[in-house]
Amino acid sequence: MGSVIIENVYKAYGQVEIIKGVSLHIEDGEFVTLVGPSGCGKSTLLRMVAGLEEISYGDIRINDRVVNDVQPKDRDIAMVFQNYALYPHMTVADNMGFAMRLRKDNPEIIDKAVREAAEILDLAHLLDRYPKQLSGGQRQRVAMGRAIVRKPQVFLFDEPLSNLDAKLRVQMRAEIKQLHQRLRTTTIYVTHDQIEAMTLADRIVVLNRGVVEQAGKPRELFDTPANQFVANFIGSPSMNFIEGRVERDGGAATLVTNSSLRLPLPDNPGVADGAKLVYGVRPEHLRIDPTSAIKGRVTVVEDTGSETIVLAALGKDNVTVLLREHATVASGDELGFTPVPGASQYFQGTPGLRDRSAV
Ligand code: ADP
Ligand code: MG
Repeated sequence: MGSVIIENVYKAYGQVEIIKGVSLHIEDGEFVTLVGPSGCGKSTLLRMVAGLEEISYGDIRINDRVVNDVQPKDRDIAMVFQNYALYPHMTVADNMGFAMRLRKDNPEIIDKAVREAAEILDLAHLLDRYPKQLSGGQRQRVAMGRAIVRKPQVFLFDEPLSNLDAKLRVQMRAEIKQLHQRLRTTTIYVTHDQIEAMTLADRIVVLNRGVVEQAGKPRELFDTPANQFVANFIGSPSMNFIEGRVERDGGAATLVTNSSLRLPLPDNPGVADGAKLVYGVRPEHLRIDPTSAIKGRVTVVEDTGSETIVLAALGKDNVTVLLREHATVASGDELGFTPVPGASQYFQGTPGLRDRSAV
């Protein structure tokens, strides 16, 4: 079966460490997305699983076999890249069967595998076309077809949709999900796009500077981010962060911001009077409330039709408020805002520490 175990893996180029002790256990049939900012090491990690980069330290196992020194072609994996570069002089069928021909598989078996994959990907009517006669989405499907025909134990995707326009990306995302529901092949999918990562994954892994910040179900990372980095990275628009100091009077704790606004905190014994905190609240967890003492001035209103995004200045702090219902708000308005109880977070210390608590 197609499990992938990454055990304390490091990668250095010369003196520079790029991957710093990553461990991940990916179960057979699981769809794991690897997400993080550009340059954090996603492709490097994936390429080590594929066998395209040497591992500096640690082990990678596919199906319980250590593959550190196994050639890519012998790892029973198939990889789809962002630049999938189809052979322009070959038909769709020949492009899809290419790897099998290299392997000197029987032509009849190749033909059958290509037809099956074409059926799954809705390419059967295009098998005789050349890449230049296809749309971007169709080309992307051919690239996936090349991976599918080999019936690998593991699919590795490296930002396969980045070259497509926004609408097509959303469509292909759904197709990849359907494909996984049908084939149940273990998949590791790299992307810098957190929406893509959230929507596709059984489990999402957030990588930052070569370290796993958090791994879990998409909803877990959204609701209970382990730290400020994850809280900031997951969710769109991003979580608002407001710095302040804890003040207690008679037990109830509040966070006093740099603009002297008072935000509600629970009476948490772990937080000392005077402690510096970062308060985090998602845009969809701020409500307009005329009775609230948390006052702000609206600076920009963006109406997307289905929702309204309000940017407001709470004193020196700028916040984003997401309203799902239609709101008559104009720039310059002075409004009160209330956080939804129980939906905010606060963070202590520097971003990157495991430092979260719920409010
Ligand atoms: P991501 O895919 O997350 O954008 P990469 O894994 O491609 O990031 O790269 C991670 C870091 O490793 C980057 O800082 C990149 O410059 C560096 N890097 C990648 N390949 C090499 C290489 N062959 N030699 C030296 N540095 C490299
Ligand atoms: Mg990359």
